[in-house]
Amino acid sequence: MGAGEYNPLENAQEQFDGVAEIIGLDEATRQLLREPMREYHFLIPVKMDDGSTQVFKGFRVQHNDAKGPAKGGIRFHPEETADTVRALAMWMTWKCAVVDIPLGGGKGGIICDPRNLSENEQERLCRGWVRAVAKDVGPFVDVPAPDVMSSAKHMLWMLDEYETIHGGRYPGFITGKPVGMGGSLGRTEATGYGAIYTLREALKEENVDPATTSASFQGFGNVAQYAARLYLELGGKVIAVSSWDHADKKAYTFRNANGIDIEKLIEATDTFGSVDKDKARELGCEILDENAWLEQDVDILIPSALENQITAKNVDKISSQVKFIVEGANGPTTPDADVAIKERGIFMIPDFLANAGGVTCSYFEQVQSNTNYFWEKDEVLEKLDTKMTAAFKAVYELSKRNNLYMRDAAYVISINRVAQAVKMRGWA
Ligand code: NAD
Repeated sequence: MGAGEYNPLENAQEQFDGVAEIIGLDEATRQLLREPMREYHFLIPVKMDDGSTQVFKGFRVQHNDAKGPAKGGIRFHPEETADTVRALAMWMTWKCAVVDIPLGGGKGGIICDPRNLSENEQERLCRGWVRAVAKDVGPFVDVPAPDVMSSAKHMLWMLDEYETIHGGRYPGFITGKPVGMGGSLGRTEATGYGAIYTLREALKEENVDPATTSASFQGFGNVAQYAARLYLELGGKVIAVSSWDHADKKAYTFRNANGIDIEKLIEATDTFGSVDKDKARELGCEILDENAWLEQDVDILIPSALENQITAKNVDKISSQVKFIVEGANGPTTPDADVAIKERGIFMIPDFLANAGGVTCSYFEQVQSNTNYFWEKDEVLEKLDTKMTAAFKAVYELSKRNNLYMRDAAYVISINRVAQAVKMRGWA
């Protein structure tokens, strides 16, 4: 889904093959890491409210669990494909490895549109998914989480089904639970804040004062809103954000060259991250077309909406002023556009490093759930900062030492860590 002309699995394998070559990975390890180790495909029969039965297709892919239990979300989408789930599982392996948390990579999905299902039908679907894989997932095997169109509510139904089958309380089976029911404080902030922790370190290394910088965001949902808030705290100025307009079925860019009042813009935004045009105008924003966010004369671009947004077709529109790109979204840059960005010498903080704050906080949730002891929010955010800063520094140092593009350096670190775990276990 959302892949357009790009097959996400082929992309993921191409990136892997390139790095396997750079680090001279042996053939057996290459074979083990370029595909998922295990995958489950199953049918989920669901009794619908009208008495009929509808059969849904479900997946769980465990790409690699040499470093620890597989970890990754469950996506609900009508156009979900096995290749998308495989690619995302592989990216989860690299994401967990780059922040050095003891987890592997997994991903799941159900081909469905939850917007067309009643609450009861959604609950039966969630319980059906767990029944199909209950023996193959668990706190020490594979730990799911929410993802596209799945939420905390779905996670609790899934947890309840898992606990019913296994006869006990296993809150560490799943993450993304509501706070008070095993969820972690700080999860809402984690991805956006994590991205800005890495940006703060990049600016420091490059001797740039954040207070002299400006930024433009694509998207204004969970990731972008918290990233924008923290970026403002560093002293930066947000010139533009874009968002999807449900009524007009298109996206717009909202620009205020003097800097957007982010708190007020958040108040003018609905829970899906869509900005109200009239209220944005009242805040002094001009309303521009959907691509304008990319074309601004700013120092930093923070794509935080969707995959495949910076492409060969629009990469030339990036202003010569742009010096940093922080990929809040997963896969916002296509491989051909990435080559152009690399050639221009723009400092890239790649997605699986920049947005790893989410999974890092999910790991903290799992730790807290397994020990049944929950931390204060400050403690969570402090630990998050420590992990993200350490991850950034390791990637940055390698990129400087070996003259590597940041994305390649991040891959080298991740793949080396997983390859080492594979070898130490005697798998290759
Ligand atoms: P969200 O649903 O809260 O927000 C998405 C935003 O993108 C909304 O503001 C929406 O209006 C906007 N948008 C949608 N289509 C657009 C378009 N064509 N042009 C401009 N804006 C558009 O989602 P989120 O949780 O903020 O996630 C954003 C991205 O970050 C996704 O790629 C997601 O996979 C990735 N990500 C999120 C997390 C997390 O913890 N939330 C973690 C890792 C990665």
